[in-house]
This record gives sequence, C-alpha cells and structure tokens, in this order.
Amino acid sequence: KSRMDESLPICLYTADIGEEIQARVELEKAMTGALERNEFQLCYQPQVEASSGKIIGAEALLRWHSPDLGPIGPETFIPVAEQSGLINSLGEFVLRKACDDLKLMKEAGLEHIRIAVNLSPLQFANMSLADDIAEILKSSHIEPSRLELEVTESTLMRNMNTAVEAMMNIKKHGMSLAIDDFGTGYSSLKHLQLFPLDCLKIDKCFTRDIEDKSSLEITLSVIDLAKRLNLRIIAEGVETDAQAKFFRLHRCDELQGYLFSKPIPAQALIELMKEQAEVA
Ligand code: C2E
Ligand code: MG
Ligand code: MG
Ligand code: MG
Repeated sequence: KSRMDESLPICLYTADIGEEIQARVELEKAMTGALERNEFQLCYQPQVEASSGKIIGAEALLRWHSPDLGPIGPETFIPVAEQSGLINSLGEFVLRKACDDLKLMKEAGLEHIRIAVNLSPLQFANMSLADDIAEILKSSHIEPSRLELEVTESTLMRNMNTAVEAMMNIKKHGMSLAIDDFGTGYSSLKHLQLFPLDCLKIDKCFTRDIEDKSSLEITLSVIDLAKRLNLRIIAEGVETDAQAKFFRLHRCDELQGYLFSKPIPAQALIELMKEQAEVA
C-alpha cells in the first residue's frame, strides 16, 4: 500500500460503508429464491436501423421487482448477484428466456430479429459458456447469428488471459459479439485489435454530451475507429431527434434509446414490429 492510501480519511466513510453493507445484506436476502419465485422479468429495447428506422434487433434487459423492496435496477442487483454466485443461474435464466422469446418472434414471422444479451464478467470467465449457449440455441432451433453477446471493456480486462480464447469460442459457434459501453472502460487499442468483435456500442454518456465540443470529437474518433476495424456501430442512449440526426449523418449503423422505445416485454416488442411491417 502506498502512503497515499494510508493518508485517506477512511474513518469519515465508515458510516456510509456500514449503510452500504446493510443494504447489500438486505438485497442478498431478498434475492435468495427470487428466481424461483419468478420475480425476474426480461424486457427488450428495440435497436433500429439508422438508415430506415426499422427495428432490426433488441437488447434483453433484466428487471427485478422484489415484493419487499420494490423495483430494483440491474446496476444495483447484478453486482450483488455476482458476489453471491446467483449470477450463474440468473444468467442462464436470461439466455434461456431470450432464446424462448426469439422462438416466439420467429413463430410470429419475425425471423430476422437479432437479440442481444449482456454477459457478466463471471459468466464470461466460464470457459464452457459458449458450448452451453450453443446447446440452448440448438434445442430452440435458433440460428446462432440471431444471438449477440455483449461484454464490456472491464469484463474483457478482468479476464485478460482468457478473453480472446473465450471470444473465439463464442465466434466458433457463430454467435455475434459486441463490446458494450465503449469508451467508458480502459481497454487498450492494442487489445481491441486482437478481439474478434462484430459490433461496437457507443456508450450513452457520449450521446448525452454530444453538444459538448470535446465529447463530440471523441465520439467522432470512436466512430472512425470502429469503421476502420470494420465493426457495426450502435449508438446507445439516443433520446433526441438531434442525437439521432447526428449518428445518421456520421453513418452509425443502428440506434438505441428512449427516442424509439424504452425496454418493453417480448409481447409488446412483437406487436411493435408487426405494426411496423404493416406500415411498410
Ligand atoms: P447496458 O447493457 O449498457 O444497457 C443499457 C442501459 O441504458 C439500460 O439500463 C437501458 O434501459 C438504458 N437506456 C436505454 N436507452 C436509454 C436512453 O435513451 N437514455 C438513458 N439515460 N438510458 C437508456 P438498465 O436496463 O438499467 O441496465 C443497466 C445495465 O445493467 C446494463 O447496461 C447492463 O450492463 C446491465 N444488465 C441489464 N440486464 C442484464 C443481464 O441480463 N445480464 C447482465 N449481466 N447485465 C445486465
Ligand atoms: Mg448492454
Ligand atoms: Mg451499454
Ligand atoms: Mg452499462
């Protein structure tokens, strides 16, 4: 430990840390058995083709409504699930549900939709993950390329030694790979070149600050970088027409955000896509 660490006024934070631990214990308790009690729901946020405005994919986002604590966001409960080990069964639930829903969509005549699923660092570290997913896809008769797996830079960096191998396994089975929240982590450009990625998702903080000159320049550089690496680009957190216009102008492939839709249940997504097909 450095002297800097030692000189931090740790005692000032103990009250907060105490509260935090308390909250975490409560969360963990509420989460025990929550999966079996069907408290989790999978919602989908549409991803639209920038050029046509058509929904061509959707990201699966987990929702938890605890009868005791009310609705709790994934930013809060995923880290707790990671620590308690629940993430393995929760992650499996998400993948199975996403494949079931893909099947529903296929049966509704929407066979071209692609569903993206977020992988947590622990899931990604599991070397049999790709085989397990391939098995689920096979049993649901889903074409592997219909499934995109999203990993963040920090997930990749946490599993540095095995990240490329894990990604190759995923690619071997024909699934698609996206790097999520790009620009907020600290993956080196050197590594980016080694990763067998298909898609880069520009983090919503860049979208939000696009009016800001320096943020704008960084966003343009990220778009340029992604294009040079031949990656599909999705802009996240698109809330305004101006933002959508910007990403269209700069040839981003897909847009995702509240401007188009919040995350909605599978059935609502199917209805939305059917409506679109009728208009077209
Ligand atoms: P993410 O993968 O980057 O997902 C995008 C987040 O941005 C979602 O938050 C989404 O609801 C939100 N969002 C979408 N459009 C807009 C917009 O226009 N403006 C703003 N301000 N926000 C927007 P959500 O659903 O709360 O999820 C947060 C994070 O939790 C996700 O970030 C992802 O990292 C994680 N997560 C969600 N579901 C899962 C899951 O099934 N497994 C794992 N491992 N992580 C998940
Ligand atoms: Mg994501
Ligand atoms: Mg993201
Ligand atoms: Mg995120």
